[in-house]
Amino acid sequence: MLRRRPAISIGSNQEAIRKQSGSNQEATTHMRLIDGHTHVASTHFIPTEFMDGIVDNMMEQMHLSPVPVARERAMARLLAGYQDHDADIQVREMDKLGIEKSVLLLPDFTYALKGNAYTVDEMFARHWQILQRHPGRFEVFAGVDPRWGRDGLATFQRGVEQYGFRGLKLYPPCGYQADDPALTPFYEYCQEYHLPVLLHTGSTSPVLAFGPAVPMHVDGPARRYTNISFILAHGAVNYQEECVNLCRYRPNVYLDLSGAQWSAANPHHLADFLKLFSNGINHKIIFGTDWPINKYHLNSTMIDLLRSEDQGRPRVPVREAQLILAGNIERILAKARVARPAADGAAA
Ligand SMILES: [Zn+2]
Repeated sequence: MLRRRPAISIGSNQEAIRKQSGSNQEATTHMRLIDGHTHVASTHFIPTEFMDGIVDNMMEQMHLSPVPVARERAMARLLAGYQDHDADIQVREMDKLGIEKSVLLLPDFTYALKGNAYTVDEMFARHWQILQRHPGRFEVFAGVDPRWGRDGLATFQRGVEQYGFRGLKLYPPCGYQADDPALTPFYEYCQEYHLPVLLHTGSTSPVLAFGPAVPMHVDGPARRYTNISFILAHGAVNYQEECVNLCRYRPNVYLDLSGAQWSAANPHHLADFLKLFSNGINHKIIFGTDWPINKYHLNSTMIDLLRSEDQGRPRVPVREAQLILAGNIERILAKARVARPAADGAAA
């Protein structure tokens, strides 16, 4: 059913989706939204080298545009979107879209790249302050490059036990694979406390390596550490077939929808986007925006599609859509066996 070409054109006509939703709309308007993939939109947490690489690609893309923009202006425009240091704008945008909670992902670029404003410890403390500033609106999955060794592990443990962080964020393009032996003590800790591990998959800023970010590297750790929920970030669009297979056959592997906003809003890619939900893995798919890279308003079409009908039938069964939009990440978060710390950061 989901493979059928939709009767309405998407992207240009979101209102039509809402109207066509009919009786399903009643049930779906009550669907909860939890965003499983965001970042604080702040230059404090992203090195200048990373941003330089993004602008390099933007400048190449200018060849497609009839109106070229100077590099300085392109950079200024990019950085202007990364000044929400306390996540106040993010919370306002979440409210507009009806997102009750978001997972903040903090990758550690400090081992691989230059131009970091803060140390890992300082970035952890800043994220803890954001948790306190917006109670109940965020969870943090914090990253430490495993090559920082014992000190890095201590930092991560402090994040979990004193700051209340709820998962590990790994960024393999920094130069390590998901099955790198240096990750063993991190996985053992997450295994003991049932904490999730979210891994970037696929390409990124061109200053980093794409090769290590292949999803199949997670196969060994997922088999060994069965208490850990492994989330393949961007798995809906990067190496989709491999990610779907891992989700289908490894009980503890999941993928997120970050990046799929563009497929949902593009009529040429829409069929591929909808096909994802016919693989029998809707209990493994996690809604994620990748804010601030994808602004919240760009997600409306994707959310509407998950809540809408095609020729009188839900595109995705209502119960399964609710799992995707909130239930799956909520289930993963609920597995954590670590006490919430007191508000002053002391371990409970
Ligand atoms: Zn991201």
